[in-house]
Order: sequence, then C-alpha cells, then structure tokens
Amino acid sequence: MDGIEITWLCPSCRHVQTAPWTPGVACTRCGRPIPGPPEGSTGLPLERCRLCGVGELYRQKDFNVRWGLAVVALAAVLAYWTWGLSLVGALLLDTWLYRRVPWVVICYYCHAHYRGLPGVKAYETFDLLKHDVYKTLREQGPTPIVLDGPGIQGPGIREFGRPADG
Ligand SMILES: [Zn+2]
Ligand SMILES: [Zn+2]
Repeated sequence: MDGIEITWLCPSCRHVQTAPWTPGVACTRCGRPIPGPPEGSTGLPLERCRLCGVGELYRQKDFNVRWGLAVVALAAVLAYWTWGLSLVGALLLDTWLYRRVPWVVICYYCHAHYRGLPGVKAYETFDLLKHDVYKTLREQGPTPIVLDGPGIQGPGIREFGRPADG
C-alpha cells in the first residue's frame, strides 16, 4: 500500500488537504489524525471508507471536467472557421486525456479521495442512488463517531449494502 495519496476534509476544522496516506497522518492545521491504511493489507479493496467508516467507495476518472469542457467550448467557437474539424479534434483530445488519467476512489459519505489504491478496478463506478442516500445521511444524521474499527451500520445503510452481500 505504498504511494497512496489521500484528500480529505478535516472533521474538526473543515480544512481540505492532500497528503500521502501513511499511518499517523494528521491534519496540518489542527493536528487531528486520520486512520491510516489497513495493516497487513495485500492489495484487497477497502470495504468501506477508512476515514468516516460509514461511506462506501466508488471510482471515477481523476479528470478535470472543467478543462474538458473548456476544450470543447473553444472547439465550438473555432468550428465555423475549421468546418467543424476543431470539434472532431476536441473530441479526440478529450478521449485521449480521459484514457490517460488514473482512477480516483471516492467515499460517498465524506468525499475522501484515495489516489493510487491497488486493485482499483474492483471498486464499483458511481451510483446516483447511493450518492443521494449518503447525501441525505450526511445532511440529516448526526456525524457518526467511528473509531478505528469495521464501521457502524446505521439505519438506511444496510439495504444498500455491497452487491457481494446478496
Ligand atoms: Zn483539522
Ligand atoms: Zn468516508
């Protein structure tokens, strides 16, 4: 589990930061530690978010959507003079960029970003239903306090368990 980077929002001081994910990593502003990577892991996917212990994880391309849109917008402006060829070029450029960017694994609940996790293809892709469920939990439920453990299973989470459960 080397070379993993994590971006998280500190629950204490709301500071968003990125750091190598190692045991003992802590918030640079207030010093609040976060759980490190699981010990003795041999590259198995994380069952749930290590940081909040609540959220499940999904993967998406670590792609800056704004840049992709900017390329397309510029191509659209140029399309008149290039007989539309600029749009074809933009499409190819976006496709090429998209294939090159790595996956990032994200928590539905606390939005922690894990970069460089092994076996990233084992994570499911984004699910809007789960996103909405966790969003509701986040907005309405009290902040769960999860110490370094398997995590809690609050109401509403179980029925949306991992596909492997059923
Ligand atoms: Zn902090
Ligand atoms: Zn989380």
